[in-house]
Amino acid sequence: MFYLFIFLLIMNLYPQQATATEVSSSLSNADSGIIYTVSMNEPHTHYFEVSIQVPVLDNTEYTEFKLPVWTPGSYLVREFSRKIESVNANNEQQKSLSVKKINKNTWRVSNKNATQIVLSYRVYSFEASVRTSFLDDTHATINAASLCMYVAGHQKSPIKIRVQPYKTWKTVSTALPAVANEPHTFSATDYDLLVDSPIEVGNHQVVKFMAANVPHELLMVGPHNGDEQTMVKDIQKIVEEQVKIFNDHPCSNYTILQTNTEAMYGGLEHLNSTHLMYPRWDYQPASKYQRWLGLMSHEYFHLWNVKRLRPFALGPFNYEEENYTEMLWVAEGITSYYDDLVLRRADLMTEEQYLNVVADNINKVENNAGSKVEAVTQSSFDAWIKYYRPDENSENCCTNYYVHGAVLGTLLDLAILHHTKGQKKLDDVMRYMYEEYYKKQQRGFHDEEFQQAVEKITGVSMTDFFQNHVSGTKTVDYNQYFGYVGLQLKNTNSKPTTDLGIKTKADGNRLVIVTVLRGGCGYSGGLSANDELLAIDNFRITNDAQLRTYLDTKKNGAEVDVLVSRNGMLTTVRIKLQNNSRFAGMLEALPNPTTAQKQLYKRWLSLQ
Ligand SMILES: [Zn+2]
Repeated sequence: MFYLFIFLLIMNLYPQQATATEVSSSLSNADSGIIYTVSMNEPHTHYFEVSIQVPVLDNTEYTEFKLPVWTPGSYLVREFSRKIESVNANNEQQKSLSVKKINKNTWRVSNKNATQIVLSYRVYSFEASVRTSFLDDTHATINAASLCMYVAGHQKSPIKIRVQPYKTWKTVSTALPAVANEPHTFSATDYDLLVDSPIEVGNHQVVKFMAANVPHELLMVGPHNGDEQTMVKDIQKIVEEQVKIFNDHPCSNYTILQTNTEAMYGGLEHLNSTHLMYPRWDYQPASKYQRWLGLMSHEYFHLWNVKRLRPFALGPFNYEEENYTEMLWVAEGITSYYDDLVLRRADLMTEEQYLNVVADNINKVENNAGSKVEAVTQSSFDAWIKYYRPDENSENCCTNYYVHGAVLGTLLDLAILHHTKGQKKLDDVMRYMYEEYYKKQQRGFHDEEFQQAVEKITGVSMTDFFQNHVSGTKTVDYNQYFGYVGLQLKNTNSKPTTDLGIKTKADGNRLVIVTVLRGGCGYSGGLSANDELLAIDNFRITNDAQLRTYLDTKKNGAEVDVLVSRNGMLTTVRIKLQNNSRFAGMLEALPNPTTAQKQLYKRWLSLQ
């Protein structure tokens, strides 16, 4: 999935890993399973009506229904049950059964006098995101984690879901197999697969095509300025390049649900599909369109890395609480490394553009003070309470496992190329992991098994790398790695200017400090987040341009008085200015690269 730094999201488990074909065959005798019905009679109110028909499965006094507290792939407890209302239950004779809510997301229904229970409820669904269900007067998106309760203890039971579209909506699309002779009805082997299969309802455009010999559907929801035929051709290139890495395509069908929005951007991977959100007018020009290609490439790569090759902790999911892993830097970061690399290999990004992306990722990591405080393994583990809950101090204390993980992916790839003299690269590690843990052992991988796989392919110990840069925060000698392929990383910030070491936002005519950067003169001098900047040396300041103009008159070491309003009281803070030390790295060729360096460079970027 994606967030403002770089953020795309995602995850899954093993029972979900059946292909659509397997799902279809194993459900042929599923008539006694759990049946969901989802209706949307008043879409402008944003309420879905849901019913769950389930035979009384337990020889107990009650049946419990639960709604997940989070969506797999998006690591935040979101408490979806706060949107639920009007929960009631009937038996097979339409007689009411007792329903008692016993905690935030569990409803207990009496089994007395019942051989079958029909639980019904309404769900307010007006959060437009890839991790929630959504309903308005134009369309509906069903994300079962936020809409469909599961029957406690019976998540493995087969499921049918019947969709009853609003009266003027004609199309229902999902990667789930359709049930023959039952309109808008689909089957799932179990609850995990239902959660992993978004359903789109409306009058959207459906573009069918083949990629790597697998049938694909592109669902275009809402107006947009994209050219579908170009998009299809480019998706085909991306898919073909990714299949080359894993030497396998794991799906019998794949669905791309593309919601076109005013400004939202993001994606969530699923077992046989993905849900993307993208600004509707940003498919042109080419520079903006490339961003969509990167999103597409990222989510598609998750088809292997996360949905099948997954950290051990991420499956089977516990839908009721946090699921901790230190490996999101592999699940998301390595995926972020590959999303752009695949575009380069598919000739959807030039060499120059790609090298700029690599340098830009390094600049983000090096200019983020938090990357010296928090290791990527810690960032992964604490995603639930830190990455997904950023505040004014996040930049000082947290690293971003997407960008930081992508940089580590770059370094690992270069190291593997170097140690194997170009015979192996990170592709070989990913393919080995996929074949060994997903296909052969059919389990998630343990944390140490990723390092072991890198060492197996590389043939040397990588302990220092993992201790220093994965579980540690030691500064990287970038030019050691880029030197392997005849490149060097040069800092182009040769004429630094003075600054206050802060980030600001305009709030009407007010200029307010958002973050005070650790290591800057504002941090040591006493400025604070939420301070409103009023004046500097008695000159009124209302915007960043005025501040910049004044600071340009001052040299490193000069002192200034900054007048701020703090919690409604005026305070003057004396700051000793220092030059900003922002790193502005660019990759360029070494003066006289050797033939070996040139060859490794071509291997790295798959240039021939
Ligand atoms: Zn992702």
